[in-house]
Amino acid sequence: MDNNKGQEIHVCPYCHTVNRVNSEKLHQAVCGLCKNRLDSTYYDMLGISKNASMQEVKRRYHALTKMWHPDKNSGNAHALEVFKSITHAYRVLSDPYEREAYDLTLKKQEITQIENESREPDNSNKEMDEKQFQLNLMIVLMTVCALVMIFIAWVLVRQVR
Ligand SMILES: [Zn+2]
Repeated sequence: MDNNKGQEIHVCPYCHTVNRVNSEKLHQAVCGLCKNRLDSTYYDMLGISKNASMQEVKRRYHALTKMWHPDKNSGNAHALEVFKSITHAYRVLSDPYEREAYDLTLKKQEITQIENESREPDNSNKEMDEKQFQLNLMIVLMTVCALVMIFIAWVLVRQVR
């Protein structure tokens, strides 16, 4: 078995560490370094809901920058990366047009995720097909056996005459 099968590179949205995860398990994968979820949205990163008002977005961002600002975390590379990430998230979510475009991409991602999940039962279908195939094979073999026996019986009857 190839362990790397289905694995993809996912860059952590918080600290930008490169992680290799199974794309099917992305919704429960966390970053190997900072332990934040790899599928975090900009909303998750700012700790707000999807319908947060512009005021809330600003309030949360200012609270977070107080925590992660490079001036307060000198020499902390991780803090700097987080600061850059939340600033990027804030730039997108504080611009109504960019936020709308971002919401659209999130919706598309959700749809593909749902499609991927609904595709899973196909495996059991395959198993069912395999069982049906085996059953059909049995019927064919039994029919052939019956035909051979009828042929033998016919030959025997001819010899007796
Ligand atoms: Zn991380």
